[in-house]
Amino acid sequence: MITICIHGGAGTILKEDMTPELEKAYLDALQTALNAGYAVLEEGGTAVNAVKAAVVVLEDNVLFNAGRGSVFTKKGTQEMDAAIMRGQDLEAGAVCGIRSVRNPVEDLEAGAVCGIRSVRNPVELAAEVMTNSNHVFLSGKGANDFAIKQGIKLEPDEFFFSQFRYDQWKAIRDSDNYALDHTHHHLEELMRDKKFGTVGAAACDVNGNIAAATSTGGMTNKKYGRVGDSPIIGAGTYANNKTCAISCTGHGEPFIKAVAAYNVSCLMEMKGMSLQQAMDETVMHKLKDMDGEGGMIGVDAAGNFAMIFNSAGMYRGVKNDKGVNEVSIYG
Ligand code: ASP
Repeated sequence: MITICIHGGAGTILKEDMTPELEKAYLDALQTALNAGYAVLEEGGTAVNAVKAAVVVLEDNVLFNAGRGSVFTKKGTQEMDAAIMRGQDLEAGAVCGIRSVRNPVEDLEAGAVCGIRSVRNPVELAAEVMTNSNHVFLSGKGANDFAIKQGIKLEPDEFFFSQFRYDQWKAIRDSDNYALDHTHHHLEELMRDKKFGTVGAAACDVNGNIAAATSTGGMTNKKYGRVGDSPIIGAGTYANNKTCAISCTGHGEPFIKAVAAYNVSCLMEMKGMSLQQAMDETVMHKLKDMDGEGGMIGVDAAGNFAMIFNSAGMYRGVKNDKGVNEVSIYG
């Protein structure tokens, strides 16, 4: 069975905070990404190409916190992380700290490197690391230089900017609550303010191969240099044909500590759980007990899927060849 699942981030996404226009814009964007990924599978393409196609659409859409429209760091920069993994042979590629720089006036160091061009689609760079390097994970300048060498599409800083994310950042950058300090109070405030907004996809192709990809700008007002779970293989992204392909979204630190995506795979492999059971156990118990707010989407090699979150909402969608075609936002 061919299947693709996508997410556009989890968090305190409430219907009362949404206008009908914005809700429609999100749902349309999810459907467009889902269709792009599904079209690849329908034509007999690979799960890797399907997840990449879906994630590129979401990265290019300013509504989501990945690629264009990424959130700002404490320094007013945008630093993007992404990963992709192929379940057939456990090949993986990841990049972090893909950097676009804003605010030359407000940040001298940023001013010094203003005009830098950055990678338009971090997921494409992650895929390039997977297929055309003998490494798994590249960071910062090395990753950017590799992108240039491989002819990956670059854009000027302006491309990544969005007033909406910038205003969110400005609202918290000088407050006492700016840091992702792990007290409940701060965390809840941050969640309410900004949601998460990472994007990801998991797919099963016609040959029963599975893959997952995740791409993010991280968390608003994060320290520069901070890396979340998304590009870390096993934490935010994982794929193994024997078990599952998973892409996570949520508060990255607990997801890293829980090795969340690999935890699902382990429960399936070692305890014989189904995809649904293993994701439920990981999201609703393990992560929840650690205050790990967020969720994940996943598929197995039979094309079964699950989308689970412990937050108020998660932008998500699924399409398969059994007639399922849904996009949704709330719990
Ligand atoms: N997990 C991402 C991070 O911590 C954020 C998100 O999912 O929105 O960087």
